[in-house]
Amino acid sequence: MGFQRAVVTGGAGFLGSHVCVELVRQGTDVVCVDDFRTSSPRNLGGVLTHDRFEMVIADVAEPLDVRGRVDLVMHLACPASPVDYLRMPVDTMRSGGFGTLHALELARRDNARIVIASTSEVYGDPLEHPQRETYWGNVNPIGPRSVYDEAKRFGEALTQAFHREYAVNTGIVRIFNTYGPRMRAGDGRMIPTFFQQAQAGEPLTVHGDGRQTRSLCYVDDLVRGLLAMAHSDHCGPINLGNPEEVTVLDVAERVIEVTGSRSVVRHVEPMPDDPRRRCPDITLAHRVLDWRPKVSLHDGLRAMAGRVPADIG
Ligand code: NAD
Repeated sequence: MGFQRAVVTGGAGFLGSHVCVELVRQGTDVVCVDDFRTSSPRNLGGVLTHDRFEMVIADVAEPLDVRGRVDLVMHLACPASPVDYLRMPVDTMRSGGFGTLHALELARRDNARIVIASTSEVYGDPLEHPQRETYWGNVNPIGPRSVYDEAKRFGEALTQAFHREYAVNTGIVRIFNTYGPRMRAGDGRMIPTFFQQAQAGEPLTVHGDGRQTRSLCYVDDLVRGLLAMAHSDHCGPINLGNPEEVTVLDVAERVIEVTGSRSVVRHVEPMPDDPRRRCPDITLAHRVLDWRPKVSLHDGLRAMAGRVPADIG
């Protein structure tokens, strides 16, 4: 059975907009709460005027005023790209802290299922590979990136507290790097940056030697995982990501290939606290949610390059 009415915080963002569209497509009424601080209403396209869709422009760090009962809360609102959270460090902590509190209070009010978008960043610069949910992480609590990592860790702790103390039906997902259409050019994340540079014929800037690894999940796979978590009653945390590990240098070269660009790779200074390796162990997601990614990196990058329809997989 589908959900009747869902609140999606951060629903205008990259992941949130795909979630809103999919929920509306499945027949759920959607209330999107977002203040567009790192996004634009354009992401929502035609769904903005759909009769099952309602837009509430609000900061989730302030108490949420959502009228009428909801049976699902998808809490995605938080600046997510390093450019954004380094630009607004305090607001990032407010979104991850107060924002998560308000989303949990809403779920508690209506006895709704709530899924919290946490992140692989809770593992920091991991000392264990691949990362399983049982790993506690290796996070620098006061480095520049800590505003994001620690806000998410706080959000997880708060979510578990609501689960234990008030028996709220919570689910935490730890999302690993995801890419796909509607990522903002210039949002500082690797894939849109590489695409922008390749399409402009500029050098692709790789931090450090480029041998650090990433695991990249195509957005359609991720949204399927998020909704599988919504439909389960597992409290998590559950990793969602693509375990295929690739070096940053390899990603740069593949982007050059799928865009047919003449760009070259240029190595620049390493980023502070940039993790060397990142790779999810998705055994739990497979066992509990029957979920695993289907779209290969090659197909996902080709879809982003506009070479094949985006509805692959
Ligand atoms: P995004 O920046 O595209 O979307 C975030 C959305 O939240 C934006 O629409 C923004 O305007 C909104 N927002 C932020 N703070 C807000 C606030 N205080 N009040 C109201 N709206 C607010 O980022 P995304 O990639 O879509 O990420 C969505 C969620 O998934 C985030 O919580 C992020 O931490 C998590 N996540 C994403 C990835 C990824 O690879 N995309 C990886 C790990 C975790």
